[in-house]
Amino acid sequence: MALSEDQQLHFVFIPQKGQGHLIPMIDMAKLFAQRGVIVTIVTVPSEAEKFKSVIDRAVGRGGLQIRLLQLEVASAKPGLFDNGHDKIVSQIKDFFNSAASLQQPFEQSFRKLQPTPSCIISDIVFYWTSETAIRFRIPRVVFDGFGCCSRLCHHNILHSRLHRSITSDSEPFIIPGLPDEIEITKGKLPMHFHSHNSDDEIKDAIHRINKADETAYGVMINSFRELEPNYAELYRKAKNNKAWCIGPVSLCNKETVDKAERGNKASIDGNQCLKWLDSKEPSSVVYACFGSFWNLAPSEIMEIGLGLESSGYPFIWVIGGGGEYSEIDKLLTEDRFAERNEGRGLVIKGWAPQVLILSHRAIGGFLTHCGWNSTLEGVCAGVPLLTWPMGAEQFLNENLVVRVLKIGVKVAEDEVDGDGAKCMEEERMRVGKKKDEVEKAVKKVMDGGEEGEERRKRARELGEKAKKAMEEGGSSHFNMTLFMQDMMHYKAGSRE
Ligand code: UDP
Repeated sequence: MALSEDQQLHFVFIPQKGQGHLIPMIDMAKLFAQRGVIVTIVTVPSEAEKFKSVIDRAVGRGGLQIRLLQLEVASAKPGLFDNGHDKIVSQIKDFFNSAASLQQPFEQSFRKLQPTPSCIISDIVFYWTSETAIRFRIPRVVFDGFGCCSRLCHHNILHSRLHRSITSDSEPFIIPGLPDEIEITKGKLPMHFHSHNSDDEIKDAIHRINKADETAYGVMINSFRELEPNYAELYRKAKNNKAWCIGPVSLCNKETVDKAERGNKASIDGNQCLKWLDSKEPSSVVYACFGSFWNLAPSEIMEIGLGLESSGYPFIWVIGGGGEYSEIDKLLTEDRFAERNEGRGLVIKGWAPQVLILSHRAIGGFLTHCGWNSTLEGVCAGVPLLTWPMGAEQFLNENLVVRVLKIGVKVAEDEVDGDGAKCMEEERMRVGKKKDEVEKAVKKVMDGGEEGEERRKRARELGEKAKKAMEEGGSSHFNMTLFMQDMMHYKAGSRE
């Protein structure tokens, strides 16, 4: 039965280009469209290219009402996420400027959208969508890719103003108001907490983003209540009940092709990965991947491979980054790495079909940088994590995984000092972890023993809970219903 315009919800998504934000927003758009919502995804043509086939498939196969609105903008400078972390400081202003430049074309197109949009679900970086929302009298809901724990940490630090009284990036402090004791330094928090961050333009953009975040109608969170119940509850209260956990959104990808095609074009055929994994014992393979844009120096990358090798376990090793592989190729060839590891190690240079790989029963552990998407995808796979955070909110995610959930093992004990700060200041991140530490952590996770078995059991149980949360009657499915009802009430209220 067709819905009248009064009943029909229409959500406008405006994702930013970083894969860690874009991928979950596309999944989220599909999930809402599956519930009968009309979705318009607003982006620029260069970005649309990256996910158009995903949307075409969802529309063609599932008959979903997802539309793409491509904004024409004058300049398309390479952004923060196009070239890895190189030149990050000089790129960061371009990134904020290019995000701001979308406001005018967005608002011009917005007034033509039909049916009238019910809300804007905006990436946190587009602070100006708060003005659009006021102008068009609809709610603005923020998405920033964080889970509840890191969102609550962020909220409590800002509200306690603790970060202002601490001058050093390496001084440990306890985050106030949390259900668990989490100790952190400013250097291990997202960059806007760092003391050294003194560029006025960047500070101004961050101030606007935080302000628009605080005053937004609500927050959409890619997480599920059973994963972090105390954090979800406290955060929901802090946001006057306007925080909705609707994940893990990656679970909307059921078919092999959907699991394989997320984000950039994979540099290996998904079926080749599956065939390789089919030849391995259940829970025997370590998958190592460090997200979508964290660059390491070739010598450091090499240490990871050597550590995986000396652990004795089969592994899939993703060497990501900006696509400059000549130096690492040289190291690998000189070392005869491929020869030594033939059949036991699969090396992927570039983009891996991560969710497809993780969903295979042969995967027994995930060496991750603790980006929130990867963390959740590891949780969904029901495998223990080996944690190696590098910046942003990843140290907070590590705390959740290792100390609170007890499903992870740190690759090295806290010898990193102010890493996040370094990643902003230096041309390349230097993490200085060693082959031996990778080997030790892999063995700890994979060798079993009572502690290892308990960890694996907890991980498996959380994986089951994740799937249940997304099914009809599950907590995230229910939260989506609540959100849609909320939008319906808002719409009815604004007509009165
Ligand atoms: N990803 C992928 N293949 C890769 C690298 C990353 O599919 O080779 C995906 C991964 O599944 C996740 C996202 O990219 O959905 C990375 O997000 P995350 O929050 O883990 O890290 P970020 O890249 O934002 O630091």
